[in-house]
Amino acid sequence: MNILVSACLLGVRCRYDGTGGSCEALDGLRESHHLIPVCPEVYGGLPTPRIPAERRDGRVMTKDGRDVTQQYERGAGEALRLAAYFNCSTAVLKEKSPACGCGSIHDGSFSGGMTDGDGVLAQLLKEHGIRVIGDTCTEEIAGLRHGRTEEL
Ligand code: SF4
Repeated sequence: MNILVSACLLGVRCRYDGTGGSCEALDGLRESHHLIPVCPEVYGGLPTPRIPAERRDGRVMTKDGRDVTQQYERGAGEALRLAAYFNCSTAVLKEKSPACGCGSIHDGSFSGGMTDGDGVLAQLLKEHGIRVIGDTCTEEIAGLRHGRTEEL
């Protein structure tokens, strides 16, 4: 099974501050699944490092007030293209991000506050019937390893 994943979760240094991350639960999937890394912010043409951005009122705004909605939508579209190409029915994405976050994202105030909602990519994938799992949902990710496809 091919699973779309946020590239930064595999250590790719594509985060806004030029760092990468990790996800132990994903490491356990490598043996049995093909992980397809994507970074929608980079695919949208944004540089690394970059000014942080958050979703607000249907737009994506940088901390210094620039509207980068178009870049986020473009990048999400490119990631969706890869999801379709590799026939991914599931994605494991980095939580809280304005692109990859699912269920809960920063609230647009740049003060650390959170609000219910999805990042631009997570929303687009869901609209196309792709299951999105946050990177801290370790039980759900482990369920993929054991072949469970239903949501827990
Ligand atoms: Fe990671 Fe997604 Fe942000 Fe790229 S857009 S750095 S993959 S959370």
